[in-house]
Amino acid sequence: MSSDHLVVAIDGPAGSGKSTTARSVAKALDCAYLDTGALYRAMTWWMLDQGIDISDGDVIASRSAEPVITISTSPEAVEVHVDGADVSEAIREPVVAEAVSAVSRVPAVRTRLVQIQREVIASGSIVVEGRDIGTVVAPDAGVKIFLTASPLARAQRRNKDYGQAHDEVAATMEALERRDLVDSTRDVSPLAKADDAVEVDTSDLTLDQVIAAVLSIVASR
Ligand code: C5P
Repeated sequence: MSSDHLVVAIDGPAGSGKSTTARSVAKALDCAYLDTGALYRAMTWWMLDQGIDISDGDVIASRSAEPVITISTSPEAVEVHVDGADVSEAIREPVVAEAVSAVSRVPAVRTRLVQIQREVIASGSIVVEGRDIGTVVAPDAGVKIFLTASPLARAQRRNKDYGQAHDEVAATMEALERRDLVDSTRDVSPLAKADDAVEVDTSDLTLDQVIAAVLSIVASR
């Protein structure tokens, strides 16, 4: 890979600090940013909007080519459109989070969205966050990071993200673990650390420390 086209792949489970870290790293490197989870959420939003039974993988597969999904690559704000409608906020709703793992495990969905991701990645230097970036989407990425954190740390962060109360941490932890279990055990492109990825446990690190750790890994490549 040429040095003027840097790809930084950041994978990890929900609540590992991936999004905030990836955006901050993209800003620091003055490059583009791709939130691949937003694409799976957009596909899921569309399926729900169409009233499709998300437990029916065959129907999901047969309809997955229909929505026109576009995504911005500015680290400042992720803008996602489906058939021209701005769904940037709607895709963050709990109803979408609850359904997304069932949709993203369908191979036809992944094939379609991975194609979109690869087109974006080919266009220039970029930080890409997801579950299968270092393993499947961009196996040639110059830098691969796998962020982890304890379930408690992840749930606490997620609740802070959404401004929920402290006593909801247990419920959040359960929901995250449910989603991770499906994401990690699915047949196609499960959440996994690439053999050549550097693992960073963020449980006891501040956000600034995580960003500094990732930037120093980038600098050492
Ligand atoms: O990162 P985020 O929590 O927004 O991702 C939402 C969901 O999208 C994940 O739980 C997973 O099911 C799916 N996803 C995926 N592969 C990716 C990114 C996200 O399957 N590269």
